[in-house]
Amino acid sequence: MPVESWATSQTTRRSMQSNKSRDTGPELALRRELHRRGLRYRVGLAPLAGVRRTVDVAFPRLKIAVLVDGCFWHGCDQHHRLPKSHSDYWQAKLERNMARDRSTTQLLEQSGWRVIRLWEHEKIQDMADLVQRAVLEAAPKRATGPASRQPPARSADPSPQPSHRSARTSSDR
Ligand SMILES: [Zn+2]
Repeated sequence: MPVESWATSQTTRRSMQSNKSRDTGPELALRRELHRRGLRYRVGLAPLAGVRRTVDVAFPRLKIAVLVDGCFWHGCDQHHRLPKSHSDYWQAKLERNMARDRSTTQLLEQSGWRVIRLWEHEKIQDMADLVQRAVLEAAPKRATGPASRQPPARSADPSPQPSHRSARTSSDR
């Protein structure tokens, strides 16, 4: 039996065992880090009505979708190695996965979502930075500005209510 480098790596084996990308370590770690930074999100949301595509981490009000792609299942060009045995099967499967990824991104974008795709091999801090920046950009501006204060209240839900623009002018002091 040919020993493939990808199969010996423990992370790959783990991601192959749990087909659900939602349960992979990197995604959990990212969620934990985002939570630590005061961001609140939905997990495993299927934002498009009638479409069975789920988003790993979603900010529904801001329409930001974050997907953490496993290197093996989603064809990371740095780490994906096609298994030598049954390579036709794996190749076809990979192509299906990648086509599905593209269409998921497309469907979401057509519905006005911003899609952030991350590879599971990326550093958690880098992933979290990217997501946090997108959230800050999308969130309604606060009077103090995003960076001038501590991250949004720890325990309380930041609930960035989309400020009603018409009402804003009248209540403008
Ligand atoms: Zn990778």
